[in-house]
Amino acid sequence: MTTSTHYDAIVIGTGAGGGTLAYHLAPSGKKILVLERGGFLPREKENWSALEVYQRERYHTQEQWYDVNNKAFRPATNYWVGGNTKVYGAALLRLRERDFEQVEHQDGISPEWPLKYQDFEPYYTQAEQLYDVHGQSGCDPTEPPMSLPYPYPAVRHESRMQELANAFTKAGLHPFHLPLGLKLNEVDKSLSACIRCNTCDGFPCLTQGKADAEVNCLQPARNHPNITLITEAKVTRLHTSASGREVTHVEAEVAGETQRFTGDIVVVACGAINSAALLLRSLNEHHPHGLANHSGLVGRHLMKHGCTAMVQLTTKLNPDSYQKTICISDFYWGDADFPYPMGLIQNTGNVLADMLPAEVPALLAPLLKMRPGAELKAVADRTVGWWLQTEDLPDPDNRVRVEGDRLHLEYKLNNIEAGSRLIKRWTGILQQVDRTEHLVPFSIYPRNMMPIQSVGHQCGTCRFGEDPNTSVLDLNCRTHDIDNLYVVDGSFFPSSAAVNPTLTIIANALRVGDHLLERLK
Ligand SMILES: Cc1cc2nc3c(=O)[nH]c(=O)nc-3n(C[C@H](O)[C@H](O)[C@H](O)COP(=O)(O)OP(=O)(O)OC[C@H]3O[C@@H](n4cnc5c(N)ncnc54)[C@H](O)[C@@H]3O)c2cc1C
Ligand code: SF4
Repeated sequence: MTTSTHYDAIVIGTGAGGGTLAYHLAPSGKKILVLERGGFLPREKENWSALEVYQRERYHTQEQWYDVNNKAFRPATNYWVGGNTKVYGAALLRLRERDFEQVEHQDGISPEWPLKYQDFEPYYTQAEQLYDVHGQSGCDPTEPPMSLPYPYPAVRHESRMQELANAFTKAGLHPFHLPLGLKLNEVDKSLSACIRCNTCDGFPCLTQGKADAEVNCLQPARNHPNITLITEAKVTRLHTSASGREVTHVEAEVAGETQRFTGDIVVVACGAINSAALLLRSLNEHHPHGLANHSGLVGRHLMKHGCTAMVQLTTKLNPDSYQKTICISDFYWGDADFPYPMGLIQNTGNVLADMLPAEVPALLAPLLKMRPGAELKAVADRTVGWWLQTEDLPDPDNRVRVEGDRLHLEYKLNNIEAGSRLIKRWTGILQQVDRTEHLVPFSIYPRNMMPIQSVGHQCGTCRFGEDPNTSVLDLNCRTHDIDNLYVVDGSFFPSSAAVNPTLTIIANALRVGDHLLERLK
């Protein structure tokens, strides 16, 4: 075992939380070590192959996790510099103002946050600047107040999406341009890294046109000589002092060797599931149930949204290349006949022929069996993909558990009625639109509920709060129990809301970063 230089701060993980934090701390000149278990995601032609990415899962970890019945599964998660933002859809939305309050749902209560929208607002603004967000304010009926407009204009709808947006407006809805973090210049394409391709959501970006944590944060941070990044460094354990009040060193497997690193401050940013697992695995005599787990809440309240991918299949050709531009929040807080929050609707990325066998919803399977092979493309060319997202409520029994090296996810989806209502409502809208577009209407809407493997929107496993008995982290995302230990990723969410989580993770990393800059002075 080797022990190396002492650092002012050690950041573990380089996703939306860790990558952003490293970027924010870099100009301070403080000695900062960044440990990342993955390497750099290779830039290769396969980045944009649906066969490689969706069917062969080329970039997902090979790890096995276990469900509540001890059944092994391969999680759809990514260990690379930049974390899951390397493949994310780059939909970067703010939580709604009311999401920070206690909200009554049909299936229970979504708890109040200890800080409010106003506390996050300046950081959302910074986050939108940092991650190149394109959007148009004033069109989303649930949009919270913004102190500055989006830094870049909304991503233009292509012809089919524009047609659909018009049809939804005619149907009485308020479709708006999905806010997206892209390095896109639609006026001067010669200056645009993003080429509006048809392989974005779920795929790495070959042209580095996606605003992700590697491209926008880690790489610029590395220009500062005080930042040291070690890749393929999997942190396995955190050790504490004799009092148990501070982390003394971080143990990691680096190139097959166990190494120890010391730092004044240690920030865990491994993603909500792996951060909880690391704390639980680091148990010792002062922390017999896992580090910083006096409350018994580390790993509990895991949330990941109730998500449904729906395919709108009609006879109409969809020629659009980049399709992830429409968002609908009309049912976010409910509907005339369902006075509870239902959720958010947005385009998925494109539905491509090579994605269908992997992603195909059960209802589409018989059709594809009848018309296999090249016919898949004919089917895919007539589809539009929709992503329906409902808040899942924090349940202490939904949790991450570890048994030695084994990671268990015990998760049962809740708030199911709200999700079903959203699906039904959206299917009705699509039917209405499709009837007006076709003389002889043919349309089906097969859908797929995201399974346990789908952990992209994981959050909530180390909730923040003022009371050490009911939360793991304090308001600065420092653990209540250990003075120099922070968790800065999706773990801190007390509720998941129904918007995509990443802009809030980024904004929070900037907020905690300000606190750490003060502390490091
Ligand atoms: C296909 C897909 C599409 C998505 N689309 C969107 C979207 O459009 N909008 C949105 O808001 N969100 C989206 N998300 C979710 C988004 O990617 C996550 O919210 C975000 O990346 C979470 O940031 P994080 O910092 O919490 O964790 P991560 O980004 O997962 O980063 C954690 C990092 O820690 C590293 N790590 C883990 N364990 C260790 C260890 N023991 N030692 C060292 N390093 C470790 C990992 O390798 C990783 O780099 C999507 C996710 C997926 C999978
Ligand atoms: S749409 Fe743009 S950002 Fe997305 S993968 Fe294609 S080129 Fe990259």
